[in-house]
Amino acid sequence: MNDCLSKPSQQMLYTDREGLTSSTNGTRDSEFWFDDGNIVLIAGDVRFLFYQGILAKHSPVFKALFSLPQPSLPASEPPSLPQVAISDSANAVRHFLRVLVVGHQSFSHGRNPTFDEISAWIRLGHKYEVESLVKCSLDFLRRYFSDDPHQWFAQTLLAPPGWQPAHAIGVVNLARLTGAAWLLPTALTVCCTLGPEVVDGVAREDGGRETLAPADLGRCFAAKAALARADGAKVLAVFRDEVAPGCRARWACRRVLRRLMGCVLRGDPRTKRVEWYESWTPFVDEVDDRRELCGWCYKMVTETRQDAQEKDVFMRLPEIMGVKVEGWGKVLKRDSVDGA
Ligand SMILES: [Zn+2]
Repeated sequence: MNDCLSKPSQQMLYTDREGLTSSTNGTRDSEFWFDDGNIVLIAGDVRFLFYQGILAKHSPVFKALFSLPQPSLPASEPPSLPQVAISDSANAVRHFLRVLVVGHQSFSHGRNPTFDEISAWIRLGHKYEVESLVKCSLDFLRRYFSDDPHQWFAQTLLAPPGWQPAHAIGVVNLARLTGAAWLLPTALTVCCTLGPEVVDGVAREDGGRETLAPADLGRCFAAKAALARADGAKVLAVFRDEVAPGCRARWACRRVLRRLMGCVLRGDPRTKRVEWYESWTPFVDEVDDRRELCGWCYKMVTETRQDAQEKDVFMRLPEIMGVKVEGWGKVLKRDSVDGA
C-alpha cells in the first residue's frame, strides 16, 4: 500500500546531496504525518509527510531541491506526492522537523537538549545548511565545552545536565564536522577522563555508537600522559613549603605545608584522585582540620597557587591535545593585560 500515491500532486523523483534515490518504501511516522503536507521524506524505513514551504524557508538545500523542474508525466499516470529519500536516521529527522516546527531558538530557554537532539540539529543543520540551527546548537555546547577558562572552571559538570561524560566523544565528532575547533581542547579533556568508554564509545538512540576517530583516540592517549604530569606539577607547586608573603607564622605554616605534601606523596586515603582541573581545597580542609595555616598561606594554597597551575594547563590544552585553535586563551591574555 502506498498512501502518498493517493494525494493529488505530481510525483517527483529526487535525489539528496549524497546521491540517494527516491523510494516508496516505509511506514508512516506517527508524529510527522500531516494530511495536508506536500512532500514525503523517506528516512530508512520511515516516511514523513511534511511541508515543502517550511523546509525551503529554513534550508537552501531543500529550496534548491524543490525548485528542480518536475518531470512531466502522462495524463494517464495516477496523481502522487513528491518524495525524497534522505540518508539520515528517522530519529534524527524527527528531531530536525520538530525544531523547525517549534522554532529552534526556543531550546535555549527551556529544558536542556539531549545529546541526540544536539547531534541531529548540528548534523542535519550542517547538511541542509540551516546555519542558525547549527549556531544555536554550537553555542549551547560552548557553555559546557568552553574556550573561556572562567566559564569552564565555573562549571561543576563535565557535560550538559542529563548527558554522560562519554558524550564528549560525540562533541569531538561534531566539532570535527563543523570545524568548530574551539570545542576540541575541553571536549578531548573530558574524553581523557573516561575509562574503557574512550575506546568503546557511547550508544546513540538510533542503535549506533558514537566513537572517536583513530587519530583523536591517539591524541587522548598521548594527552593522558601529559595531563598526569600536569597533576604532579600542580601538587609540587601548590604544596611546596614556601610560606606566603605576609605570613607571621612561618614555622607553623611550613609544617602544615610539609604535612600536606607528605600525605599526597604517601598516598594518604584522604588524598582522593584529583584531576588537574579539580580543587585540592577539600583535602586541605580535611588534613588541616584545626586550621593551623594562617589566612595568607591558606589563601595562597587554596586559591593563588591552584589558579595559576590550572590556568597554565588550560592555556596549553591545544598543545597537549595536539589541536590548533585560533585565539585560544585570549580571555586569560586579556586578563593579564588588564591586570598589568
Ligand atoms: Zn602562613
